[in-house]
Amino acid sequence: MTAEFEIQGIGVGELAERYGTPLYVYDGDALAAHFQRLRALLHPRAEIFFSLKANPNISVCALLGAQGARAEISSMTELITARRAGIEPENIIFLGPGKSREELAACLDEGIHAIICESLGELDLIDELARERGTTADVALRVNPSFSVKGSGLTMGGKPRQFGIDEAQLLDLPDLTERHPQVRLMGVQVYLGTRILDEDVIAENTGRILDLAERIAEKLGFPLELVDFGGGFGVAYFDGERDLDPEALAARLNPVIEAFAARHPATRLINELGRYLTAPFGTYVTRVRYVKTSMNENFAVVDGGTNHHMAAVGIGSFVKRNFPIQLLDRTDEEATESWNITGPLCTPNDTLGKKAKLPALRPGDLIGVLRSGAYGPTASPVHFLSHGYPAEVLVAGGRSHLVGEREQAGDLLRRQHLYVPENPATQDN
Ligand SMILES: *Cc1c(COP(=O)(O)O)cnc(C)c1O
Repeated sequence: MTAEFEIQGIGVGELAERYGTPLYVYDGDALAAHFQRLRALLHPRAEIFFSLKANPNISVCALLGAQGARAEISSMTELITARRAGIEPENIIFLGPGKSREELAACLDEGIHAIICESLGELDLIDELARERGTTADVALRVNPSFSVKGSGLTMGGKPRQFGIDEAQLLDLPDLTERHPQVRLMGVQVYLGTRILDEDVIAENTGRILDLAERIAEKLGFPLELVDFGGGFGVAYFDGERDLDPEALAARLNPVIEAFAARHPATRLINELGRYLTAPFGTYVTRVRYVKTSMNENFAVVDGGTNHHMAAVGIGSFVKRNFPIQLLDRTDEEATESWNITGPLCTPNDTLGKKAKLPALRPGDLIGVLRSGAYGPTASPVHFLSHGYPAEVLVAGGRSHLVGEREQAGDLLRRQHLYVPENPATQDN
């Protein structure tokens, strides 16, 4: 018996045998414990909303919901997912620059806490839909601030963006509330970027957003019942990165929140988090099909690739940076070799790991891409080359549960309709 990667005492070999590969495995107990730790450290007035975009699996959502997470959603399916996962409408907000009439109508009909409005045209449409229903809509404005901050993987703010309404435009519209009688403006949302790994940057962002929210609400004359100060908490993926220190983060952030909370005793404060809640607790498990060499480099061709895990290509970078990659069986063997880990797609970009340090590999080995619980299959071209969706397994309470079916050929073909040409030509006439 050699050492192998385990999740709550279940060997990865057993999971691979039972559910097949490629496979996403989520450690539900670790996910819940991480949420509770953050919950205990973060200022009690700051509510944690899970951004379903990061991992919309309904069981992941339900598990977080059972821990007290609320939901930040951006599509009709995410709304249905959050509701079926047991999250109450008063703990759901809907955000996104291109909401459809149907999505906005569903927000009103479900009675979610607030629609986060991203344009003046959207505000007109919400007003119209609320009038049709003889109701008023609770709406928070997403603001594109004049300032930006450094230290984020993707910087928002201070730039032309399709998201939100420019701060300057809003400050120029003091009659906005009167123009939309069926809309009750009640909050402000700002999202300044993702993958932030600096505690000071997060605290500074939050302070500036809270100030901005006060300015906007005062100028436009609406009550500040909600401020969503975004999030964008990062997770270390690459060499040289370090994880946020939750204690240090809370020590910087909580005083900023406290100052605002004391001035606004009834305002709901929202912290939207996706990646930070789920990324560390997912592993993408693939099996080696072939090993080969090309021009003195080692290649292990595995059964899944960037079709399931596009982020592993290396986020926003021209130089390929590897996600943490590990041999999951024989974990006691030393990483003495250099391996390119490539998938089944017919494109050179289908590379999960470039020159990754690994032990000698052989067919049948299980290779894991760690920290893969966010922006996995749903953020990947799962239908490229028609391999379809991988299986998803949640381990909770020491037991494994299939929470996402592997797509089969029939699933992919079911939504296509065969047009049969009437007079087919053949190549030999
Ligand atoms: C994507 C997104 C999130 C989640 O971002 P993470 O970096 O995964 O936490 C939150 N809010 C908005 C507006 C987003 O677009």
